[in-house]
Amino acid sequence: MDVNILPSGDEQLPYLGVRHQIGYRRCNLNCPYCISKWRERELTFDLDTFQKIIGRIGELPYRVCLRIGVEGEIFTSPEILRVVTDICNRDSSIFGVSFSTNLHASWEQSIGPFIESANTAKLGIGCTLHDTVIKDVDLFFEKVARLKQSGVMVYVGYVALPERIGFIREYERRCERLGVPLVMNALVGSLKGLEGADPKRTYPRDYTAEELGELRELWDTPHSYKLLVEAARTRGMACSAGKNYIYVDRNGDVYPCSAMKKKLIREPFMGNILQGPIRFRTDDTVCPIDVCWCGNENQALRIVDRYYNRTRTLRIFTPREGIPEDKLYQGYNRSAFAFFSSRVRMDERYGRALSRVRRILLENVS
Ligand code: SF4
Ligand code: SF4
Repeated sequence: MDVNILPSGDEQLPYLGVRHQIGYRRCNLNCPYCISKWRERELTFDLDTFQKIIGRIGELPYRVCLRIGVEGEIFTSPEILRVVTDICNRDSSIFGVSFSTNLHASWEQSIGPFIESANTAKLGIGCTLHDTVIKDVDLFFEKVARLKQSGVMVYVGYVALPERIGFIREYERRCERLGVPLVMNALVGSLKGLEGADPKRTYPRDYTAEELGELRELWDTPHSYKLLVEAARTRGMACSAGKNYIYVDRNGDVYPCSAMKKKLIREPFMGNILQGPIRFRTDDTVCPIDVCWCGNENQALRIVDRYYNRTRTLRIFTPREGIPEDKLYQGYNRSAFAFFSSRVRMDERYGRALSRVRRILLENVS
């Protein structure tokens, strides 16, 4: 597997992970569990603003690893794809750019022409497998293989629905054969709209012990398992958010991370990238949030730099050589579920938060 590619770019410059969320809420699928609710929510995307923000990100004095959070399906927008092509083909601070797709679009009409137009040496794509919705899983993996062959740093994304855990092993085998990682997200909140699902269960808290055992074995990294499945409490952990990682919203407002924006933490605002300089933090952030559910954000924790090599795709990081697997599970706080051991207290504390994080999660896998 060739994912173990260190971030490159101008090595003199410091690394900066950037997540830019664009609010393009349009899709070519209609998943019953769609939490981004693209049919109901307003399309807030503005092409001109997007292009200007990308231009400013490309001028930052950093080696930028950019993740575009779409909130819909990117292959329904030739305009957004043209901007991504430009990022890939232009010399700028951005050494890596990635996004997620459901890969439902036609290869001949949409995906193939885009890949042919772009320098794939910068490009990363997360292919989210919606296997309860798409008809042809073989075709999905065929497209993944073609992306991989074209030089894209590709991964398959999958949400660990408890009813589908039996399928994960098979998908992992298929990914291994293709040489691409299977990057997992835990289910967060309750599951509605899927046959056989119990809507009264709240995840990841209600995975059974047996399910947890299987998931731990199948999960892509111990880091991601600790954060997304065990819900390790991040409050108090050292994080690069604000210093070597930022969140840029669709208006250009910059925050250390999306959770800090949404929680209205005091003084999180770092400036607007279209209007003036960004006030980067000089020190790491002490995480002020109980749980960091977002896989694209919790990689900003400093513990990732201790145990893993980063790549040009924000969501892909691989264990450093020589670190025993057991060690990769050490150094994390206890689970937030253990901390708030009473179910009542947990629900009080996380009732609203869980519905919010479900949306954050889908923003990352859609
Ligand atoms: S761990 Fe997550 S929530 Fe906490 S500061 Fe870092 S990015 Fe933000
Ligand atoms: S979950 Fe993603 S792929 Fe499915 S309908 Fe929603 S936005 Fe589209």
